[in-house]
Amino acid sequence: MSCVFCRIVSGEIPANRVMENDQVVAFHDLGPKAPVHVLVIPRRHVVNVGSAGPEDAEALGAVLLACREVAEACGVAESGFRVVLNTGPAAGQSVDHLHAHVLGGRSLGWPPG
Ligand code: AMP
Repeated sequence: MSCVFCRIVSGEIPANRVMENDQVVAFHDLGPKAPVHVLVIPRRHVVNVGSAGPEDAEALGAVLLACREVAEACGVAESGFRVVLNTGPAAGQSVDHLHAHVLGGRSLGWPPG
């Protein structure tokens, strides 16, 4: 199993987990870009939004609902937060296992770079 996020799901690689359930795992990003920067991933290997199909609907829904839980757990639900799903090379996706970045704790500029 070469996917680094699959190895985090299995526990083979340690991660600083924020929450998890039967569908998703959420953990702090190794290189945080904001005071709150948590990644939410489906346990099941899905490459990205661009390759997702109807069979992934439950996992994708669980990812978004978990983003809300993460924002509440990290204290940014009230102030606001951003959910980012980099998809493919032009968007800078560097890990080919779908992940939602939950960013918050500072003012976030728009448009993103
Ligand atoms: P992306 O560039 O959208 O594919 O985001 C991948 C993110 O995964 C980056 O922000 C990395 O810092 C983060 N990352 C990579 N490996 C790990 C790891 N082992 N634990 C936590 N975060 C990681």
